[in-house]
Amino acid sequence: MLKSSMTKNNQLWFELNPDQKAIIASLKDYLKNEVAPGAIERDKSSEFPRKIVNELGAMGIMGMQVPEQYGGSNLDTKTMALIIEEISTVDGSLALTVASHNSLCTGHILLAANDDLKAKYLPDLASAKKLGAWGLTETVSGSDAAALKTKAEEKSDHFLINGSKAFITQGTVAGTYLITARTDASDRSLASGISAFIVDGDSEGLIRGIPENKLGLHSSDTTPLSFENLKVPKENLVGERGKAFVDVMKVLNGGRIGIGAMGIGLGRGALEIAAKYALEREQFGKPLVKNQAIAFKIAEMATELEAARLLVFKAAALKDAGRDYTEAAAMAKLKGSVAGVQANDYAIQIMGGNGYMVDYEVERMWRDNRLTRIGEGTDEIQHLIIAREYLKQFS
Ligand SMILES: Cc1cc2nc3c(=O)[nH]c(=O)nc-3n(C[C@H](O)[C@H](O)[C@H](O)COP(=O)(O)OP(=O)(O)OC[C@H]3O[C@@H](n4cnc5c(N)ncnc54)[C@H](O)[C@@H]3O)c2cc1C
Repeated sequence: MLKSSMTKNNQLWFELNPDQKAIIASLKDYLKNEVAPGAIERDKSSEFPRKIVNELGAMGIMGMQVPEQYGGSNLDTKTMALIIEEISTVDGSLALTVASHNSLCTGHILLAANDDLKAKYLPDLASAKKLGAWGLTETVSGSDAAALKTKAEEKSDHFLINGSKAFITQGTVAGTYLITARTDASDRSLASGISAFIVDGDSEGLIRGIPENKLGLHSSDTTPLSFENLKVPKENLVGERGKAFVDVMKVLNGGRIGIGAMGIGLGRGALEIAAKYALEREQFGKPLVKNQAIAFKIAEMATELEAARLLVFKAAALKDAGRDYTEAAAMAKLKGSVAGVQANDYAIQIMGGNGYMVDYEVERMWRDNRLTRIGEGTDEIQHLIIAREYLKQFS
């Protein structure tokens, strides 16, 4: 089981404590031996890495912030971000599986479910016996999440759900779904009327669509869902009826720290490959790095990724301190994903023709990382959030 204490030992706030160093060192070994070797093949086959995910469950990585009483590792948010970043350096698909399982479905249950639901669902999620999926997006409601149309009607002892969801990560492979649906008339100004429910994967009326063909993240499962007279027991309502949108926004704030870390990890993976390549490859009688045009790109990649990492650490610290971290999480996500994708693009450029080839892996990292600028709120939505939060001080 993973452990992370807050030991005081002269480390600076942005450094890793001894527990974090130990976790990352053993994770690096595992990734090198068990994950990296199959990453290119899984990108080709789109096979979901169930065995690896089970092993991550045994290592405590699928219940990173779940309290120990429910079988989780109870890690702080910085440690969780470090783990997601590290996984991303070798396999973006696996990183998205880990990030979404921990932050979205499990994160929503942790945030808003009552003790009975936590006791029932968290142990299987933390051990990865069941994977979690979180269904918010619909074909009619992406950035404008409050416009969702899926309906949940209250009946005698259950809610009856009809509607659909789009682009759901773990849509096919999950055993536990957290979905949002409209129980009450909408009030756009309050985004009220939306409720959240836990749906068991074997429920009649839960229909999994065909997994999407995507630009990248091929071995992460992205699938549309539909609900046809899906009966959900009343006790599976998560949080207050009609008030789930506030929880949804909080869950997304937490998720954005993980997606920022994923952007950084995919960028760092490419930076490390490109830097080693540029040290070895010679043109015009000298290594590529001896050209300022190449060295400056490496400097920019390293600086931007480090700046993004500090924003991730800041958002994580605010979250764990129980302070408002809406703006910090949006900045961390925006910077992590944009700096990460830029690093991927530079890595391809630094490596020339080889950068464009599958075996050198940076092209896959670029394709995988493009999602971090879209999922859990696009760049544009992060800009809107940051501007709104920043401007509050003047009003
Ligand atoms: C691989 C993948 C996995 C995903 N996993 C999940 C999941 O597990 N669960 C889930 O619920 N969803 C998931 N999503 C959905 C994802 O969160 C949405 O795709 C995202 O929020 C954007 O919504 P949209 O695709 O409808 O784009 P739209 O909202 O249609 O936006 C299109 C463009 O318009 C811009 N735009 C929209 N509104 C504004 C505005 N007011 N101002 C300026 N620009 C604007 C956007 O920034 C974007 O550039 C996933 C998506 C992908 C691709």
